[in-house]
Amino acid sequence: MKTDVRTAMLPGSFDPPTNGHVDIITRSARLYDRLYVVIADNVSKSTLFTPDERLAMLQEILKEYSNIEVVTHSGLVVDFAREHGVGVMVRGVRALADFGYEFELAMTNKQLYSGLEVLFLPTSPKYFLLRSSAIKEMAAFGADISTMVPPLVVEKMKERIVPNT
Ligand code: ADP
Repeated sequence: MKTDVRTAMLPGSFDPPTNGHVDIITRSARLYDRLYVVIADNVSKSTLFTPDERLAMLQEILKEYSNIEVVTHSGLVVDFAREHGVGVMVRGVRALADFGYEFELAMTNKQLYSGLEVLFLPTSPKYFLLRSSAIKEMAAFGADISTMVPPLVVEKMKERIVPNT
């Protein structure tokens, strides 16, 4: 499929989706004609929510954005890009610590598919401490996560996690 620089993708685990994800997704959607949010269906990674559960949550949260399509994908993200004519991969960066890893990932992906540009978008300051892994830990100890994730995710986390405390 022909590569289109007006079509972007934002890949990730989104386990679970956070307000930081929603921020970076909706900001990216303003920059491109079409944005795929690509949920990694990675069998080797153990996750709290299945790919289909994460898909359902993100579809509901993002339903008002007509240029965003949420999908699941197993395999290399560059293959998704090739198959769907995606010209740009957006990655959010929070702290400098994210940057080293993201830079190496960008180099690897560029080697695999030179037609794909990678764009780093800095987090909005109010979300820079939000990480899915930390949110899962906090929820396990019964902490209030309602300022960190969309209301739908608060509900789904309550159903899934029985606090340790
Ligand atoms: P991965 O497992 O690929 O790191 P994540 O689900 O953690 O996927 O994140 C998906 C994308 O969203 C990544 O580009 C990540 O950098 C970005 N992201 C996650 N949290 C935030 C945040 N608080 N602010 C900005 N970007 C974020």
